[in-house]
Amino acid sequence: MRRVKALAILVLASLAMQPGARGADDRNVIRADRAALTLSWRGSDADLGRPGLLDWVERSAQIVSSYYGEFPLGKVAIQISIGEGDRVMGGRTFGAPDAVIELRVGRHVSAQALHDDWVLVHEMIHLALPAVSDGQNWLAEGLATYVEGIARVQAGNMSATALWSEYFADMTKGLPGAGDQGLDRTHTWARTYWGGALFGMLADMRIHEQTGNRRGLQDALRAIERAGGGMAERWPADRIFAVGDQATGTTVLRDLYAAMKDKPGAPDLPAFWADLGVVATDDGVRFDDNARLANVRRAMTAPYCNARSVSTTAVRQPSSASSIALASDSCSPSPSQ
Ligand SMILES: [Zn+2]
Repeated sequence: MRRVKALAILVLASLAMQPGARGADDRNVIRADRAALTLSWRGSDADLGRPGLLDWVERSAQIVSSYYGEFPLGKVAIQISIGEGDRVMGGRTFGAPDAVIELRVGRHVSAQALHDDWVLVHEMIHLALPAVSDGQNWLAEGLATYVEGIARVQAGNMSATALWSEYFADMTKGLPGAGDQGLDRTHTWARTYWGGALFGMLADMRIHEQTGNRRGLQDALRAIERAGGGMAERWPADRIFAVGDQATGTTVLRDLYAAMKDKPGAPDLPAFWADLGVVATDDGVRFDDNARLANVRRAMTAPYCNARSVSTTAVRQPSSASSIALASDSCSPSPSQ
């Protein structure tokens, strides 16, 4: 039944879209929110067949659309190359002149591996942020690394326990090492991906904390996505942070950038986990709901409107009426409370 539904949503344009297409390079178009995702294929067929892969593309697009409130761009070409292997082998995203996501997928990939895949969600998240200078690639990679897991938990594609276990294990990779000169000047793999993810996670926590859970990094990133042309445009990082901070009514992004751009700016991770109530166990983490910021931890992974709905009733605000209106405006359908 699920397959029938997926096929009904697809508009199969096949070779008609590309009269000049060669060999097995036929195409399909998936509608995702406002976007048309045009697929092209290379290599042999996967064991799952194209419908299995199309389910994956559609699910990933829905996860990203839910996070941003819309799919980041109107048109994206998705090029899938099938090769040897049993997993999603990698991806690359280009924003200009046309948005393209290149994916390499193993021929023997299973439906479960595609369900659990992070690569395509990560690549689609890249579409939402304006391109930055090469020296600030940590911002693009870091936000994609951090947001991918949050978006999947919000969409029910991953458990919060699995996500925080991953963050707990991996965020230490983003800490500065000896001789570190800050995120703008230290272009190692670990600082680019996990240092940037650390920046995103800290920013999210601080925005939630400072706004009493009324705003989060998600509000900043939605505003940035709407203010520009996504990855098709190039912005200075300062403009990205200014638009994001304006959306949350804070200076969290600018302050954090000032603290981490040209000096190590190492956060106290053990204190961070303790505040959020993330406690190590033998095989991952468990949650301490009595921790100081346990509410913040829950709000960070709650679906967008649920989190704002909770915030309007759970947080004391002097002018609650206007705050509720603000919080509800962005949610469709409106939260019930
Ligand atoms: Zn990336």
